[in-house]
Amino acid sequence: MVMAESGVGRLLEDALRVFRENYPMYEPKVGVAAPGRVNLIGEHTDYNQGFVLPVALPMVTVVVGCQSADGIISLLTTAKEADEPKQLEFPVPTESKPLSPGIPCWANYVKGVIHHYRAGPLPGFKAVMASNVPLGGGLSSSASLEVAMYTFLQQICPDDGDLMEKALACQKAEHTFASMPCGIMDQFISVMGQKDHALLIDCRSLEVTPVPLNDPNLVVLITNSNVRHTLTGSEYPTRRMQCMEAAKVLGKESLRDVSMADLKAAEAHLDKEIYCRARHVISEIKRTTDAAGALKSRDYQEFGKLMVQSHNSLRGDYEVSCPELDELVAAAVDGQGVYGSRMTGGGFGGCTVTLLDSAAVEKTIQRIKDKYSGTATFYITKPSSGAHVLKL
Ligand code: ADP
Ligand code: MG
Repeated sequence: MVMAESGVGRLLEDALRVFRENYPMYEPKVGVAAPGRVNLIGEHTDYNQGFVLPVALPMVTVVVGCQSADGIISLLTTAKEADEPKQLEFPVPTESKPLSPGIPCWANYVKGVIHHYRAGPLPGFKAVMASNVPLGGGLSSSASLEVAMYTFLQQICPDDGDLMEKALACQKAEHTFASMPCGIMDQFISVMGQKDHALLIDCRSLEVTPVPLNDPNLVVLITNSNVRHTLTGSEYPTRRMQCMEAAKVLGKESLRDVSMADLKAAEAHLDKEIYCRARHVISEIKRTTDAAGALKSRDYQEFGKLMVQSHNSLRGDYEVSCPELDELVAAAVDGQGVYGSRMTGGGFGGCTVTLLDSAAVEKTIQRIKDKYSGTATFYITKPSSGAHVLKL
């Protein structure tokens, strides 16, 4: 299947229908959408205060609903892949009775956002969530859910509208309620995404540089391996700790402040594995700023070369790829009109991103299908806007 359109209209219709079926006494008053993302380059650099270069996707999470006077929060997801139950209700939290994470797991992302919301007191409300971002596919369905829920809350109980603080609150939600110590990239791009642009984000200063990505001859192809390895739970925090360890040995606050020369000079003092982890991060930060420059000057050959280097570094030094992702990348680059390809997102499954000529799309997809040992799903995507309110 190749999906080019967001289908947000269809998603909104579905969410409204489910809302009316489940809450017949209420009328949905608010609709919002927040996108997933694909990261073009700059993987595992955000929590090292480095650079990332994501684009917001046309695939979104939609939340529809309304306030209620009963002091109850009712949540319902239409996502088939979400754990059971799909619906839950609880009283509006108070300072003496705050929310805590629990079952179902999917609701923790939402509860976390409610907990860290930057205004209040919140009223009761009914909300239905629907998404066409694949869950757990490395396209950040989790951040799109958090940012969509935050945007929904802004409509029923406005905060000060600060976008940076919004992204940070959503990141905090994922840290504290979903136990995922993620960097800021996913929430940031879901809030700030710009149509026709990739965003070069400096994850230390949070400064954003939009880079145009709207060449009609160029296509961003996402290929979902449709595998998800379960060891990711402990791998991500381990990588994060290894990076902190490397920075500590080098006497720096983060790997952002460490040059390749510094790292090489300290090789004897570092465990071999930690050395390799740091080498990935330091080289990836440089590749990301170089890639942003290449994209700006439309040097797609150079951009593609950096993508492949990034993949090799993630596979060899950072060890977060897997055979399926390696297969997809190898199949993608083995033909005419393809500039580069790499795994995207945290790794251990999920998706690859490929940059190619629009004329080469059909052949490339066919080649990947022929060569891949599993069953892949393809999405042709365009840089889209960040979270926004929908007309009902
Ligand atoms: P990714 O963000 O790459 O998709 P994560 O593991 O970070 O992968 O987040 C996936 C989890 O987020 C799901 O397992 C589910 O708990 C939650 N989630 C995302 N979108 C939804 C949704 N629409 N409804 C319910 N839960 C969702
Ligand atoms: Mg996620």
